[in-house]
Amino acid sequence: MIGGGYTGLSAARSAAGQGAEVVVLEAGRVGHGGSGRNVGLVNAGLWLPPDDVAARLGPEAGEALNATLAAAPGHVFDLIDRYGIACEPRRAGTLHLAHAAKGLADLRRRAAQAQARGAHVALLDADETARRTGSPEFHGALHDPRAGTIQPLAYARGLARAATEAGARIFEQSAVIGADHHAGHWVLRTAAGKLRAPRLLVATNAYHRPVEGPEPPEMPVVRFFQIATEPLGDNIAGDILPGGEGAWDTGLIMTALRRDASGRVILGGMGAGGPVHEGWARRKLSRLFPRLAQAPIAHVWSGRIAMTGDHLPRILRLGPRALAVYGYSGRGIAPGTAFGAAAAEALLSDDAGHLPIPIADSHSEALATLRTLGVEAAARSVHLMSARL
Ligand SMILES: Cc1cc2nc3c(=O)[nH]c(=O)nc-3n(C[C@H](O)[C@H](O)[C@H](O)COP(=O)(O)OP(=O)(O)OC[C@H]3O[C@@H](n4cnc5c(N)ncnc54)[C@H](O)[C@@H]3O)c2cc1C
Repeated sequence: MIGGGYTGLSAARSAAGQGAEVVVLEAGRVGHGGSGRNVGLVNAGLWLPPDDVAARLGPEAGEALNATLAAAPGHVFDLIDRYGIACEPRRAGTLHLAHAAKGLADLRRRAAQAQARGAHVALLDADETARRTGSPEFHGALHDPRAGTIQPLAYARGLARAATEAGARIFEQSAVIGADHHAGHWVLRTAAGKLRAPRLLVATNAYHRPVEGPEPPEMPVVRFFQIATEPLGDNIAGDILPGGEGAWDTGLIMTALRRDASGRVILGGMGAGGPVHEGWARRKLSRLFPRLAQAPIAHVWSGRIAMTGDHLPRILRLGPRALAVYGYSGRGIAPGTAFGAAAAEALLSDDAGHLPIPIADSHSEALATLRTLGVEAAARSVHLMSARL
């Protein structure tokens, strides 16, 4: 496996658990990529609503993927239980918050689609949303009880431990710089040496570092940053998400919100970080919760999200017994865990029949760099404009 995030680690745990000899090569530390930087929302689906998934993949493949992803948070929380992963798991659901009246109309459509597939999601009115978030700023919300939250880096480290206990070997600070296929084996090169392997999974996603040889395509990337307050006691922040849900809103340049087990309020938004975005985050925090206007900010960090044009993940064939898995488009905790395990199964069994999405033989994203710059420019201008309101 190349890449020590959820995809590579879940694949490693699953393959090693089936008796395979597994090596994970990670360029930085485990969780260096999106898996150590995300919001921690363990969602029960993609960013794309389930009807759109079915329309894009066709009814059979689309509904199979919808069903896999609906069950995926359950698998994440089961793994956390089974391996005793201390990652602040909380299965209190998520709140998708309507930032405006049109956002509420979108949530109504999403609720109907989820309910038609048997999910017990609930549409909340503005008063109930104010009670559940601690802020009167939202027009309503969609509560999804299948979902929950985790501390993302701790979950990645826990998966790494589970993979190691199952027999996988994980090498950190080991960037793969080349991959060739010779006589039935892949030969991977790092600065320190070579590794021969009959099968290869590339799980480098938005943090891909160049590998000489077959590579996944360049992806458009959305930057997303977060700020976290110092731990705040219940006297100051006890009414903010008191039920423990994680939340994000329907804004095109969206905002995310969660409170961790220590009482930090964590607010995120699109953008690479820096004064414009951080200024917006401070103003947003004060608008949602005026008493937090002067709350000390203890941490600021950002990450990269690989977005496919159609917002569907890809499992790409890179060569003989070699797959690349990427492009969860902002929904990688449960999908990454599920796709990694399924890719490992397909590689070990030489049977792609049970993958959550059909294998693609080719994939390219037009104007990836330009689209990356375009999203960042849009986020900057929205965040700048908010200073003038
Ligand atoms: C800020 C942010 C917020 C997000 N919020 C959420 C959320 O709330 N819920 C959700 O479900 N998803 C969320 N996501 C998406 C989710 O984090 C990712 O989809 C997921 O972590 C991807 O996991 P991965 O294993 O595929 O890739 P990554 O975790 O990115 O791991 C890839 C790894 O590959 C390594 N690598 C790269 N190139 C090489 C090389 N040549 N050799 C060796 N190693 C290499 C990298 O160092 C990296 O560690 C968010 C992402 C970000 C950035």
